[in-house]
Amino acid sequence: MPEGDVVWYTARRLHAALAGRALTRSDFRVPRLATADLTGDVVTETASRGKHLLTRTRSGLTVHTHLRMDGTWRVRPAAEPVKDSHRIRLVLANDEWQAVGYRLGVVELIRTSDEPQVTGHLGPDLLGSDWNRAEAVRRLSAEPDRAIGEALLDQRNLAGAGTYFAAEMLFVRGIDPWRPVGDVKGLEALVDLGHRLLDANKARPGHVTTGDTRPGRESWVYGRAGRPCRRCGTLIRRGEQGPPGQERLRFWCPACQK
Ligand SMILES: [Zn+2]
Repeated sequence: MPEGDVVWYTARRLHAALAGRALTRSDFRVPRLATADLTGDVVTETASRGKHLLTRTRSGLTVHTHLRMDGTWRVRPAAEPVKDSHRIRLVLANDEWQAVGYRLGVVELIRTSDEPQVTGHLGPDLLGSDWNRAEAVRRLSAEPDRAIGEALLDQRNLAGAGTYFAAEMLFVRGIDPWRPVGDVKGLEALVDLGHRLLDANKARPGHVTTGDTRPGRESWVYGRAGRPCRRCGTLIRRGEQGPPGQERLRFWCPACQK
């Protein structure tokens, strides 16, 4: 699932291709918006908020999209033929570029003034210019009995981290994902680490948390179940965590994380 850094990078690419230009074509391939047409409207910007993408127009509309599990946006030259696919949910094009959204989990057209209805519940954005560590800690601390691994993924606490960054943050800080939030020392340091890790990853594809970009060396624990911990050699474990039906993957070192 794409995490905040990927969404931030996607917003930057969409912004570069669309902002300041009039749309020459829009093609909404979701039933509810089949008749929507933004042709002639000028895109003012694309911004990310947590994992949400907000493409705003001069007429006061916002195209709200979310990548969810496996959505992606591709930006191609306007003149380049794009192979038609049932996976395409939305196309926004101008004279120079076409942005094609595949398998988007959410495609909505709302008034820009109504954006708080879709992003207002989010906690501080790890990649927002208004990142607020104290507020993220306050929200996490409000449920002291909840497992920290689960609380970090709740976008109402802090927005942008997914299973990859949560696993890596907890390893680096030596915290067991099942530890209750109330027993975690250094929540400030933990969320600051998340901010730094996402920030370091936002401007390029892929995730690296070890500082080593060589293939297979990028992560401490994520995706490494059954392989030796890079610090102590203990085999990395993998499990699921979360309420029934919403379990998410966990990777951790049982020796380094307490
Ligand atoms: Zn270890």
